Amino acid sequence: RFSKIGTLPPIEVFALNKAYLDDPHLDKVNLGIGAYRTDDGKPWVLPVVRKIEQLMANDEGLNHEYLPMLGLDSFCLAATKMVLRHDNPLVLSGLAFGVQCLSGTGALRVAAEFLCRQLGYTSVYSSEPSWENHHLIFKMSGFPNTRTYRYWDKVNRCLDFDGMLEDLNNAPENSVIILHGCAHNPTGVDPTEEQWKKIADVIKKKSLFPLFDVAYQGFASGDPDKDAWAVRYFASAGFELLVAQSFAKNFGLYNERAGNLVFVVNSQECIAPIKSQVSIIIRAMYSNPPNHGARIVASILNNADLTEEWKQCLKTMADRVRDMRILLRNKLESLGTPGNWQHITSQIGMFSYTGLSPSQVEKLILKYHIYLLKSGRINMCGLNSRNIDYVAKAISEVVLD
Ligand code: PMP
Repeated sequence: RFSKIGTLPPIEVFALNKAYLDDPHLDKVNLGIGAYRTDDGKPWVLPVVRKIEQLMANDEGLNHEYLPMLGLDSFCLAATKMVLRHDNPLVLSGLAFGVQCLSGTGALRVAAEFLCRQLGYTSVYSSEPSWENHHLIFKMSGFPNTRTYRYWDKVNRCLDFDGMLEDLNNAPENSVIILHGCAHNPTGVDPTEEQWKKIADVIKKKSLFPLFDVAYQGFASGDPDKDAWAVRYFASAGFELLVAQSFAKNFGLYNERAGNLVFVVNSQECIAPIKSQVSIIIRAMYSNPPNHGARIVASILNNADLTEEWKQCLKTMADRVRDMRILLRNKLESLGTPGNWQHITSQIGMFSYTGLSPSQVEKLILKYHIYLLKSGRINMCGLNSRNIDYVAKAISEVVLD
């Protein structure tokens, strides 16, 4: 029975993380897994999160009863307001509502199950490249056709906007189009506002279905409103759409699995049926979501002072990433590294798509103990004032090699 089962290749990002942890080299650097690190190279519990956790620990009124299948109402509403704005008429009228899920991945999974089972959609498009889990999630949820649209112009290291529009134009009606709300993973390149408007026009004209993946709201620019521009534009343009929200990066709640799936719908009549169908999908997968992370996010977003404190934390993270981008580019340039390194500072969010080739990446890992993805993606948060010289010099050497 079990002897028939074959082994699949490991998931690159987790295998890379393990290789880093197992490496005894003293100068090793982890630029792989997407998690924030302080300038000391340590994980960061946001002070405002710590404060709420301490209050929760002493709150005798809290218990470990099950949450409802669709999650903690105060969290879902606050999260929905965070992405669409607190005074958005869609939110106030109930036409935009949230369902708590297991972080961004879980929200995408529930979305995929729903789109496949309830709407009968069969084709999904994500950007090429994209967060690699998109394909897996949709395949496992029953989508027979997981496809890609062009996104990255390798030569000019920028958005291949014409290629993207052409591929969207050629997608069959009712295809699901996954769009990164901000800080595209892995390229760090987003469409401009004008380009978003054109993308929206094609999606509307061709009757495609927009699904936003919002895993970095506020983390990208330090301003959660600015990072939500694209989603808000689509919602205001009258689309029915879904938004998968993650609170892993922007609240530093990676392992708490706090996520929200926002439905934006066009009529009040469909709200109750959708909620009932989604309840059944959730019932069969994990029955009900965890409390801890969602309660922390709700406590912060439902209190103006705490929200301000959280925004300061976002700024701290976003500013550090920006500083590292500037430093890395300056150092590469002052070392006379061949090539143009301007993209390091023009890209946004947690990652930079360096343009390093697979063989250069291999050298960085094997010779310099600097761990990064084969695609050349680096987590900017893995850089700090202690390792930046070492990393810049190593990159320079492999490029010159
Ligand atoms: N979408 C994108 C684009 C991501 O980068 C991530 C995190 N790596 C996620 C979704 C979801 O992450 P999580 O499930 O940890 O919220």
